Amino acid sequence: HPTDGKVYDVMVAGGGPAGSSVAAFAAMQGHRVLLLEKEEFPRYQIGESLLPSTVHGICGLLGVTEELESAGFVRKRGGTFRWGSNSEPWSFDFALSEKFAGPTSYAYQVERAKFDQLLLDNARRKGVEVRERCAVRDVLEDDGRVRGVRYTDPDGAERTVHAQFVVDATGNQSRLQRYIGGQRRYSDFFQNIALFGYFEGGRRLPSPNSGNITCVAFPSGWFWYIPLSDTLTSVGAVVRKECADQVRGDRAEALSALIADCPLIADYLSDARRVTSGRYGEVRVRKDWSYLHDTFWQPGMALVGDSVGFIDPLFSSGVHMATYSALLAARSLNTALRGDLGERECFAEYEARYRKEYQSFHDFLVNFYDVNRDEQQYFEVARRVTRDTAPGAGAFVGLVGGGASDEAALTSESYRDKRKKDLLDQSRAVHHEGHRIQLQAAFGEAVDDTPLSADGLVVSQDGMHWEKSVTSSTV
Ligand code: FAD
Repeated sequence: HPTDGKVYDVMVAGGGPAGSSVAAFAAMQGHRVLLLEKEEFPRYQIGESLLPSTVHGICGLLGVTEELESAGFVRKRGGTFRWGSNSEPWSFDFALSEKFAGPTSYAYQVERAKFDQLLLDNARRKGVEVRERCAVRDVLEDDGRVRGVRYTDPDGAERTVHAQFVVDATGNQSRLQRYIGGQRRYSDFFQNIALFGYFEGGRRLPSPNSGNITCVAFPSGWFWYIPLSDTLTSVGAVVRKECADQVRGDRAEALSALIADCPLIADYLSDARRVTSGRYGEVRVRKDWSYLHDTFWQPGMALVGDSVGFIDPLFSSGVHMATYSALLAARSLNTALRGDLGERECFAEYEARYRKEYQSFHDFLVNFYDVNRDEQQYFEVARRVTRDTAPGAGAFVGLVGGGASDEAALTSESYRDKRKKDLLDQSRAVHHEGHRIQLQAAFGEAVDDTPLSADGLVVSQDGMHWEKSVTSSTV
């Protein structure tokens, strides 16, 4: 096959949020990055409800805050649930967690075609060479290391390209993940099926909750109701496997029947009509989405985003996990490419941190699916799975806003300052001056980070690399 002459530092397959983020984070460090995307953007994707950790954390690091602000996306202040033993809907605000409190305690509901385009264009501006309509077929391996990929170009010709690292960000349908070794482990617990469409003219909650996601439990599962503009709403039924019969046959009819079974959603949509043409004209089905790959990387290659794992749409963790994995993997790539640390150590850090965040969401979601509890009990579960002692809804909102990891990059400035102060106060309290100096040295002015384990790495001052933890090795 013809070979692209250039050898890249990083080759990213897939231009969704995970792919465009990891590519941009590597290019911003001066690395030569190529991104191959199968489709021509803008293209449709599901996953419209975002979290503050993505909007103000990752998107801030990517430098798209102002562009996002002016894109006209609906502001999401929190969530409204008709769920659990409480028969009345209850709401939470992201501001209830000190991790997001302040002027940035909101996220957006986005049309993914526009959001993903914005991120991909940003990757281009950051120096990534982006080629659309290029489908990656398989990887080139040599001597136990991935060294590039084979792909089909827009004219249908097969080509190869070489890179020091290949990142698979091709999402749920990834065919490349099988080259990583190990396998996708599907959840025994989450085996839901989603059926979804778009409506014009659906009702809005009164201000200030009009931009909230609404989730409503009903006999076969639950509904999401996501306002994408003043008039357009994304509506989806997430149906338990035992009720799969209700999703068979004509999709539009099946969705109408499910809506009729859920009085609150039926009421919200009583004056609305389903969109039947254009990008939103189809009623779509998705299933088999709850899995985690048991290997994250092999020499020369890593998985990010949905290619690695996804849990469940409830609590909108998908884009957060995808972009957080992109940040973690980018730190590993940047550190290994600079030659500071070996790739094994770097990617082990990515994997450990991702798994911890995945586990928190997973364990919380398993408990939340038990609809016999009330909010206070759900909040208690959140405290337990995150080991966050924040009172009331604090730990719950910290988790479902995407802040369970305590990653400085994903939380608000005021929280970062407070955390740094708390850590320094703690070391002062034990009169451990050496410890205090080392904490300062490790965290610098900008970053506060603690290693996950005794031999774990910490985030570098620039936020884009890993480094050895001074405290863990000497205190
Ligand atoms: P994707 O967004 O899937 O991007 C992958 C890209 O790779 C695509 O552009 C694709 O064209 C490209 N590609 C594929 N194959 C190739 C190839 N061979 N070569 C080159 N390119 C290729 N998340 C939320 O945050 N909020 C929500 O409200 C939410 N709701 C959801 C509802 C449902 C029913 C489901 C199933 C998921 C939901 N998600 C939600 C999850 C969200 O959709 C994903 O987590 C997110 O899109 C993952 O991003 P990604 O970049 O990893 O993959």
